[in-house]
Amino acid sequence: MQQPELLAPAGNLEKLRTALLYGANAVYVGVPGLSLRGASAEMSLEDLTTGVSEAHTLGVRVYAAVNMFARNADLAQAARCLPDWAATGVDALIVSDPGLVRLAQKTVPQIPLHLSTQANTTNAEAVRFWQDQGVSRIILARELPLREVGEIAAALPGMELEIFIHGAMCMAYSGRCYLSAWRNRKSANAGDCTQPCRWEYRLSESTRPDDPLRLEEDDRFSYLLSSKDLCLLEHLPEVLATGVAGVKIEGRMKSSYYVAVVTRTYRQALDALCRNKETYRRDPHWMEELKTVSHRGYTTGFAFAEGKINESSPDIKNIQTHEPAGVVVGYDDVRKQMRMEVRNFLQAGEDMELLLLRETLPVDTRPMTDEGGDRIDRAHAGNLIRVPFPFPAPKGALLRKKTIGAKAQGPERKPI
Ligand code: SF4
Repeated sequence: MQQPELLAPAGNLEKLRTALLYGANAVYVGVPGLSLRGASAEMSLEDLTTGVSEAHTLGVRVYAAVNMFARNADLAQAARCLPDWAATGVDALIVSDPGLVRLAQKTVPQIPLHLSTQANTTNAEAVRFWQDQGVSRIILARELPLREVGEIAAALPGMELEIFIHGAMCMAYSGRCYLSAWRNRKSANAGDCTQPCRWEYRLSESTRPDDPLRLEEDDRFSYLLSSKDLCLLEHLPEVLATGVAGVKIEGRMKSSYYVAVVTRTYRQALDALCRNKETYRRDPHWMEELKTVSHRGYTTGFAFAEGKINESSPDIKNIQTHEPAGVVVGYDDVRKQMRMEVRNFLQAGEDMELLLLRETLPVDTRPMTDEGGDRIDRAHAGNLIRVPFPFPAPKGALLRKKTIGAKAQGPERKPI
């Protein structure tokens, strides 16, 4: 079975390295100034050059998102920046604006162009149109059912197609939304969405502003504008049957922990499926893993539904069962100690797990010490500490702990 490229988000150099460690075939990054995710998910040119070099050493491709809808002034800036972005060695630019497509073709003709999902490509003729314009890959609209994705792939066997399989969804038609511009003066169409659709809203009568009406979908408060997150983990055979060349995880604003868990889970599932389609069985631990990261309830989105709209999430907050505890920074061979940088308050004796690409291992935090070797009973974010561990774990590997107050529904401590 043809294995599609698994694309992971890389909001910064650390997340890019995390995606490499946990099995991505390609990563996508934001470039300064013109992406659709704003400054917090963009890399400096220096970091991008380093990241591309490290990724290419491992055979992983790097795509740079330049997918805003440009104004005239943006075009001038893009014309100045495009040669610098190309010089970093990125394998393709992700664009959505026809003006930027033309500009990139004139300025950096050697760089392949991928058409962003923001361009909302929903049919075979639209794909042919962009193919005629020299675009080498189309990231299809998230609003398409898998049946139509398969029809487009069958009609254009020579064209690379990519779809999203996991991550946040818009209540609007893939980002074509002014909610953030209206509430925060930060436009989604300029890469600055602050996600106000995830906020809690109340309805109040004008003369009684202090007495808001409750808006309920079931027995809890509802976030009426906030979509559940897309998750097609349980439908990978149907996804691969469409013939797409790439499957993508959304989330350049998400944490390294999210990148690690989601990327490795889909890596394991895709490998198992492509190894033997006939004997493929979903491992229940995969879905449990996806519940350990922050999410708003999972949905299959438009994958199997005709004319469906997104489901809002009834959950009052992001749900997650685990949170990052730290990141591996080294190993002391003599003392058999893992050196880690703490990312969340950690108490000696607290359960902690090390995430490797194909397994999750318990780590004993009772004999926790500082870098000088003194026993400590607690550590704070940013502290460097040591814990006993029998072998060197890769630098950059993530450690996690149960979220305080979370329901005990995380994965068991066994290899996955
Ligand atoms: S506010 Fe929500 S619906 Fe609108 S673009 Fe941002 S994420 Fe999408």
